[in-house]
Amino acid sequence: MSATHRVVRPSWTCAVDGLPWPCTEAQRSLRDNDPAMLRQTMANLMAIAQRELANTDPATLYRRFLAWTLEPDQRCAICGSRRHAMIPGIPPRLTPCDGLRAALAADDLPR
Ligand SMILES: [Zn+2]
Ligand SMILES: [Zn+2]
Repeated sequence: MSATHRVVRPSWTCAVDGLPWPCTEAQRSLRDNDPAMLRQTMANLMAIAQRELANTDPATLYRRFLAWTLEPDQRCAICGSRRHAMIPGIPPRLTPCDGLRAALAADDLPR
């Protein structure tokens, strides 16, 4: 990972370009990591960012931190969407899945 495009907290912006982190450059260097490990790392970071960026929509955070780490053929186990998936470490309420929300509301979450 490039040492330059690193995150500045608690604003969660890039130290170089000031863009919301991970910026495009940060994503590019992060992609050198093992995909499963990267996804887990980003999931952990998103959970922290969600606490520190309390005013940010979880769906926006999900796109920013996780959507780009999914495998090309990875689908949501609940609704089949390719834009999100259930990732260990991400609470269901932070996963932008309407099907999951409905299942939670009905207390009918598949195991
Ligand atoms: Zn950057
Ligand atoms: Zn879904």
